[in-house]
Amino acid sequence: MPWMLPTILKNFFGGPATRLYPAEVREPFEHARGQVSFNEDKCTLCGTCVRRCPAEALSQDKEKNELVFYPARCIICEVCADICPRKAIDLIYKWRLPFYTKPVEVYKPRGKESGKAEKEAAATREPALNN
Ligand code: SF4
Ligand code: SF4
Repeated sequence: MPWMLPTILKNFFGGPATRLYPAEVREPFEHARGQVSFNEDKCTLCGTCVRRCPAEALSQDKEKNELVFYPARCIICEVCADICPRKAIDLIYKWRLPFYTKPVEVYKPRGKESGKAEKEAAATREPALNN
Protein backbone atom coordinates (compact mmCIF):
# COMPACT_ATOMS: atom_id res chain seq x y z
CA MET A 1 0.00 0.00 0.00
CA PRO A 2 2.85 2.53 0.43
CA TRP A 3 2.89 3.05 -3.35
CA MET A 4 -0.54 4.70 -2.99
CA LEU A 5 0.78 7.34 -0.60
CA PRO A 6 1.66 9.95 -3.30
CA THR A 7 -1.84 9.66 -4.78
CA ILE A 8 -3.46 9.92 -1.36
CA LEU A 9 -1.42 13.00 -0.49
CA LYS A 10 -2.09 14.59 -3.88
CA ASN A 11 -5.83 14.09 -3.53
CA PHE A 12 -5.83 15.22 0.09
CA PHE A 13 -4.04 18.51 -0.52
CA GLY A 14 -4.99 19.07 -4.15
CA GLY A 15 -8.50 20.39 -3.52
CA PRO A 16 -11.71 19.29 -5.22
CA ALA A 17 -11.52 17.99 -8.78
CA THR A 18 -15.01 19.23 -9.64
CA ARG A 19 -16.68 22.65 -9.54
CA LEU A 20 -18.38 23.62 -6.31
CA TYR A 21 -21.84 23.88 -7.90
CA PRO A 22 -24.09 25.77 -7.22
CA ALA A 23 -21.61 28.25 -5.71
CA GLU A 24 -19.54 28.08 -8.89
CA VAL A 25 -21.71 28.03 -12.00
CA ARG A 26 -20.18 27.09 -15.32
CA GLU A 27 -20.91 29.31 -18.32
CA PRO A 28 -22.71 27.36 -21.06
CA PHE A 29 -20.85 26.53 -24.24
CA GLU A 30 -21.52 28.58 -27.35
CA HIS A 31 -24.68 27.31 -29.15
CA ALA A 32 -25.74 25.35 -26.06
CA ARG A 33 -29.48 24.70 -26.01
CA GLY A 34 -30.90 25.98 -22.76
CA GLN A 35 -34.59 26.58 -23.28
CA VAL A 36 -37.11 27.67 -25.88
CA SER A 37 -38.03 31.34 -26.09
CA PHE A 38 -41.01 32.68 -28.08
CA ASN A 39 -41.39 36.12 -29.60
CA GLU A 40 -45.09 36.99 -29.56
CA ASP A 41 -44.52 40.02 -31.78
CA LYS A 42 -43.25 37.86 -34.65
CA CYS A 43 -45.47 34.77 -34.30
CA THR A 44 -48.50 34.59 -36.63
CA LEU A 45 -49.90 31.38 -35.09
CA CYS A 46 -49.38 29.54 -38.36
CA GLY A 47 -49.13 26.22 -36.47
CA THR A 48 -46.02 24.89 -38.23
CA CYS A 49 -44.11 24.41 -34.99
CA VAL A 50 -47.13 22.70 -33.39
CA ARG A 51 -47.36 20.18 -36.22
CA ARG A 52 -43.63 19.46 -36.34
CA CYS A 53 -42.81 19.24 -32.61
CA PRO A 54 -41.83 15.60 -32.01
CA ALA A 55 -42.62 15.77 -28.29
CA GLU A 56 -46.09 17.35 -28.57
CA ALA A 57 -44.83 20.16 -26.41
CA LEU A 58 -46.82 22.77 -28.34
CA SER A 59 -50.47 23.30 -29.10
CA GLN A 60 -52.52 26.17 -30.46
CA ASP A 61 -55.98 27.58 -30.00
CA LYS A 62 -56.85 29.71 -33.01
CA GLU A 63 -60.13 30.95 -31.50
CA LYS A 64 -58.40 32.29 -28.41
CA ASN A 65 -55.30 33.27 -30.42
CA GLU A 66 -53.01 31.28 -28.13
CA LEU A 67 -49.83 29.31 -28.59
CA VAL A 68 -49.43 26.93 -25.64
CA PHE A 69 -46.06 25.52 -24.57
CA TYR A 70 -45.50 22.60 -22.17
CA PRO A 71 -41.86 22.91 -21.04
CA ALA A 72 -41.85 19.57 -19.19
CA ARG A 73 -42.42 17.74 -22.50
CA CYS A 74 -39.85 19.70 -24.49
CA ILE A 75 -36.69 17.80 -25.42
CA ILE A 76 -34.91 20.97 -26.66
CA CYS A 77 -34.49 19.45 -30.12
CA GLU A 78 -34.61 22.87 -31.87
CA VAL A 79 -36.93 21.67 -34.66
CA CYS A 80 -39.45 24.44 -33.93
CA ALA A 81 -36.80 27.15 -34.10
CA ASP A 82 -35.45 25.76 -37.38
CA ILE A 83 -38.79 25.58 -39.17
CA CYS A 84 -40.57 28.70 -37.86
CA PRO A 85 -41.12 30.85 -40.97
CA ARG A 86 -41.21 34.04 -38.90
CA LYS A 87 -38.09 33.27 -36.83
CA ALA A 88 -40.25 33.74 -33.75
CA ILE A 89 -38.53 30.97 -31.74
CA ASP A 90 -35.02 31.00 -30.31
CA LEU A 91 -33.14 28.57 -28.15
CA ILE A 92 -31.45 30.61 -25.46
CA TYR A 93 -28.50 29.58 -23.31
CA LYS A 94 -30.23 30.11 -19.97
CA TRP A 95 -31.09 26.78 -18.33
CA ARG A 96 -34.51 26.16 -16.94
CA LEU A 97 -34.56 25.35 -13.22
CA PRO A 98 -36.06 22.01 -12.21
CA PHE A 99 -39.80 22.18 -11.59
CA TYR A 100 -42.03 20.28 -9.19
CA THR A 101 -45.26 20.75 -11.13
CA LYS A 102 -45.67 20.70 -14.90
CA PRO A 103 -45.80 24.29 -16.08
CA VAL A 104 -47.91 25.53 -18.98
CA GLU A 105 -46.95 28.72 -20.79
CA VAL A 106 -49.52 30.58 -22.88
CA TYR A 107 -48.42 33.06 -25.53
CA LYS A 108 -50.58 35.58 -27.38
CA PRO A 109 -49.13 35.95 -30.88
CA ARG A 110 -49.27 39.45 -32.34
CA GLY A 111 -47.47 38.71 -35.61
CA LYS A 112 -50.69 38.69 -37.63
CA GLU A 113 -51.51 42.21 -36.47
CA SER A 114 -48.03 43.43 -37.28
CA GLY A 115 -48.21 41.66 -40.67
CA LYS A 116 -51.56 43.37 -41.32
CA ALA A 117 -50.14 46.71 -40.27
CA GLU A 118 -47.13 46.20 -42.56
CA LYS A 119 -49.40 45.38 -45.52
CA GLU A 120 -51.61 48.42 -44.83
CA ALA A 121 -48.56 50.65 -44.59
CA ALA A 122 -47.18 49.18 -47.85
CA ALA A 123 -50.56 49.68 -49.58
CA THR A 124 -50.66 53.36 -48.60
CA ARG A 125 -47.04 53.83 -49.71
CA GLU A 126 -47.43 52.17 -53.14
CA PRO A 127 -49.71 54.78 -54.79
CA ALA A 128 -47.37 57.51 -53.63
CA LEU A 129 -44.41 55.67 -55.19
CA ASN A 130 -46.28 55.26 -58.48
CA ASN A 131 -46.93 59.02 -58.84
S1 SF4 B 1 -43.83 30.28 -33.48
FE1 SF4 B 1 -43.44 30.35 -35.70
S2 SF4 B 1 -44.01 28.30 -36.48
FE2 SF4 B 1 -44.89 28.52 -34.43
S3 SF4 B 1 -46.99 29.27 -34.78
FE3 SF4 B 1 -45.67 31.08 -34.45
S4 SF4 B 1 -45.02 31.73 -36.50
FE4 SF4 B 1 -45.82 29.62 -36.71
S1 SF4 C 1 -37.47 22.34 -29.00
FE1 SF4 C 1 -38.29 20.44 -29.96
S2 SF4 C 1 -39.48 19.47 -28.35
FE2 SF4 C 1 -39.15 21.59 -27.70
S3 SF4 C 1 -40.96 22.70 -28.41
FE3 SF4 C 1 -39.39 22.89 -30.01
S4 SF4 C 1 -39.82 21.19 -31.44
FE4 SF4 C 1 -40.90 20.73 -29.52
